[in-house]
Amino acid sequence: MALDELVSDDRIRYREVDRIIKGYPTSDGAGVRLTRYIGSPELNDLDPFLLLDFFESENPDDYIAGFPSHPHRGFETVTYLLAGKVRHEDSAGHGGVIEAGGIQWMTAGRGIIHSEMPEQEDGRLAGFQLWVNLLAVDKMCQPAYHEYLAHEIPIETRGGGVKLRVIAGNTSAQTHGPVTGVATNPVYLDVTLPAGCKFIEPLPETHAAFIFVINGDLHQIGGNKSDLILSKQLGILKEHGHITVTAGDAGARFLLVAGQSLNEPIARHGPFVMNTKTEIHQAIKDYNAGRF
Ligand code: MN
Repeated sequence: MALDELVSDDRIRYREVDRIIKGYPTSDGAGVRLTRYIGSPELNDLDPFLLLDFFESENPDDYIAGFPSHPHRGFETVTYLLAGKVRHEDSAGHGGVIEAGGIQWMTAGRGIIHSEMPEQEDGRLAGFQLWVNLLAVDKMCQPAYHEYLAHEIPIETRGGGVKLRVIAGNTSAQTHGPVTGVATNPVYLDVTLPAGCKFIEPLPETHAAFIFVINGDLHQIGGNKSDLILSKQLGILKEHGHITVTAGDAGARFLLVAGQSLNEPIARHGPFVMNTKTEIHQAIKDYNAGRF
């Protein structure tokens, strides 16, 4: 369906804000300061998303310790950088460095040990880490790693100065993100809107969705005049329907991320996310026995 048809079709439902998450400051890894939005007491998960961290600092003390060797089992870790450089190395033999605008999509599957370290000693480091759950049948799959540099991510431009970096998913204008073959069929867009500009995009009915505002603010989420997402806030969107948002007076840059809910039980313990406590105990046993 073309976008102009969408706009004029009043049978289309749009997603309003379900709740706003302001995040809480914490640290992880060897002492990296970050703000956690999903995977916290405030919001344990947004099926299929298990964790969302945002990190941003010009002070190396906040990030230089990085995330030295640590394990994961049962899900995928996704790192998207806005500034700086991060090096990934893992026990399956994958490695690479991403810079601003690049993404690392790692499938931990049955078990992986990896490190995620800043590849810089000073300057600004900023970005996101998202954890995406795997279906029960896929949790013990072979680990995999994909890395896409900034120039490999297509940019879609629309009228009025709208710009989308399409990392995962297919847009209504048929721009295809490089991340494919993921069971939760994710949509991961980095959208820039000039002041007052409206953005509309269809989303699959089966998907849970959130918006994280990087800069500026967004109004009229789903057409609701009182809905507002401010800078550095996470807006969880209601189920079902498409997306419409309008940028505030300073414009806006935001992530729009959506994925198919799995509706399976979640048992989590630190870097392991399985379906049952028994599987968590097995993960710990396997890791301690060097079976990752
Ligand atoms: Mn990790």
